[in-house]
Amino acid sequence: MGSLGVGPAPDTVVFDVGEVLIDETRVWAVWAELIGVSPLTFAAVLGAGIVQGEPVAAVFAHLAPNLAWRELEEEHEERYGGFREEDLYPDVRPCLSELATAGFEVVIAGNQPARRGPQLERLELPCGSLSTSEQMGASKPDPAFFTAVLDLVTTEDPGRVLYVGDRTDNDVRAAAAAGMRTCWLRRGPWGQLQDLPDDVEEPDLVLEGLGELPMLLTAWQEESA
Ligand SMILES: [Mg+2]
Repeated sequence: MGSLGVGPAPDTVVFDVGEVLIDETRVWAVWAELIGVSPLTFAAVLGAGIVQGEPVAAVFAHLAPNLAWRELEEEHEERYGGFREEDLYPDVRPCLSELATAGFEVVIAGNQPARRGPQLERLELPCGSLSTSEQMGASKPDPAFFTAVLDLVTTEDPGRVLYVGDRTDNDVRAAAAAGMRTCWLRRGPWGQLQDLPDDVEEPDLVLEGLGELPMLLTAWQEESA
């Protein structure tokens, strides 16, 4: 269990997508197949890059330096086939439902191509609204992303918004800089491997899964009422 946040409790919960809602194992396995390495090799090189603070493009530069991999994005999407129900982490539907039932505004917004917006909508998750960085015209960690998130939610006070993300750079640091409360979800490659930099304020919550989130937020609300 993470430490319970102090101060006014959030009434709005905004979820990142990759490794928060969606297990991206298939995304990377399809990329491995496309560039001709095993999923294990791809994952190992991705992990090494994360530890060294490198962007995902570094994986391709390392494994397939002569390949114009961005030109393969369409082929990737064809093989991947978009988000499927089985890509959702099993704790996602129960968590979002419990939050919605408890009266929290639930929103989904992450760094994703625009085509993932309709794919997420088809999963019919219990959320008030959802969008992607490409649809909003700004990507994390750009502050403009979080300004756009505030346009998606009812509250105008970023301090009442909890942003749930798996990365310390794009999520925890960037959301806190925008005045939001933060929940660092320590799952997936980034959640497991990244450290919290010294100059980043402790997240309000640090969790390894979403199961406890509704209970923790409800307790936080009761405590700050
Ligand atoms: Mg993510």
